[in-house]
Amino acid sequence: MLAVVIGAGIVGLHVARLLQEQGHEVFVLEQERFLAEHTSGRNSGVIHSGVFYKTGSFKEAICIEGNRLTYEWVDRLKVAHWPCGKWVVPEEGQESELEPFLERIRKLPIPTPSLKSADEVASEEPHLRRTSAIFVPSTGILDAAGYVKALAVYLENKGVQIIMQCQVLEIGDHELKTTRGEIPFDLAINSAGLFCDEIAEKTGLSGYTIKPCRGDYYLISKNPVKRPVYHLPYPATSLRAGKGAHGLGVHLTPTIDNQLLLGPNAFFIEGKTDYDHKTGPADFEKAVQFYLPKWNPPPLSPAYSGNRPKLFFKGEPLPEFTILKQGNWIHLLGIESPGLTSAPALANHVAKMV
Ligand SMILES: Cc1cc2nc3c(=O)[nH]c(=O)nc-3n(C[C@H](O)[C@H](O)[C@H](O)COP(=O)(O)OP(=O)(O)OC[C@H]3O[C@@H](n4cnc5c(N)ncnc54)[C@H](O)[C@@H]3O)c2cc1C
Repeated sequence: MLAVVIGAGIVGLHVARLLQEQGHEVFVLEQERFLAEHTSGRNSGVIHSGVFYKTGSFKEAICIEGNRLTYEWVDRLKVAHWPCGKWVVPEEGQESELEPFLERIRKLPIPTPSLKSADEVASEEPHLRRTSAIFVPSTGILDAAGYVKALAVYLENKGVQIIMQCQVLEIGDHELKTTRGEIPFDLAINSAGLFCDEIAEKTGLSGYTIKPCRGDYYLISKNPVKRPVYHLPYPATSLRAGKGAHGLGVHLTPTIDNQLLLGPNAFFIEGKTDYDHKTGPADFEKAVQFYLPKWNPPPLSPAYSGNRPKLFFKGEPLPEFTILKQGNWIHLLGIESPGLTSAPALANHVAKMV
């Protein structure tokens, strides 16, 4: 069977891998000239543990499965990564919420999280504000763009054809009209990220809309922490939520090259491909003062931005990853965070639907 995957992001590439393993002839069509130009190259680079999602949700389960598989794949592909774990710290007045949160996440099928005393945390993280914290061991960091590129090379060596600068324009029953001519297909996968709603609409699947939700980052060229630092889930009114609470809020993430990434914040924008940095440093400086009160940081530099593909159906937000089969199409809709982590598990899910 001739299978065509639209989109060479991390999700489309993992789906292509499984289709090729199932014995299909696989083409991946990518509109851009370079890989990782959109969300797969514009994220925090965190291998998420799955502790922040709604209990029992698909996102929680697929993230936990994806976490394990991502470590296998980044090892196999020799992608730079670091299984460092993460800290979850309370905001002021939230200390009593640590234990109930720990109790909840200890029921998850993940390496066991633990509560560390203020002394234990201080001995590992001398710059971090003095507090007890939860240590979640299965979180890690990776080179996200490097991961996409390494997987693409792996696939090409297996015989998958990745066609760059090939934008899908129109859709027929068994052929796609693209900027590089007509391409026939028996099975098609819509893994077009921010543009998945436009592809879905062209196949006759209506009502789904993607609204881009911006995350801007700042970067500090020195890194005083060993592992990512998040706060407990908080109300949308919290200062550290930035402008809205559509993501996990401004947090600290060491990068694989040992800088400190601050962000992302979250606010809706108009243009899906508008990546102009729009945020002043105030919220980010506040986060640094909160987490690292005694540290004297070098100046913050505006870094890159990413747009979350927030999914709506007939105007109502859909918080879950949505995967739909419709005839000879499988659509992956609203693959926002933790899509980088979940990608190999999402691909397993899609493979079972073929
Ligand atoms: C700010 C931010 C931070 C995040 N942080 C994390 C994190 O730390 N950990 C984590 O697990 N997840 C994170 N995520 C989520 C993660 O980055 C995404 O879920 C994941 O990268 C989605 O991959 P994708 O392949 O679906 O989409 P994309 O990477 O966007 O790929 C889709 C591809 O489809 C192509 N395309 C679209 N339309 C067409 C067309 N008509 N023809 C041909 N090609 C087309 C695009 O050019 C694009 O390359 C974050 C996301 C954001 C925005």
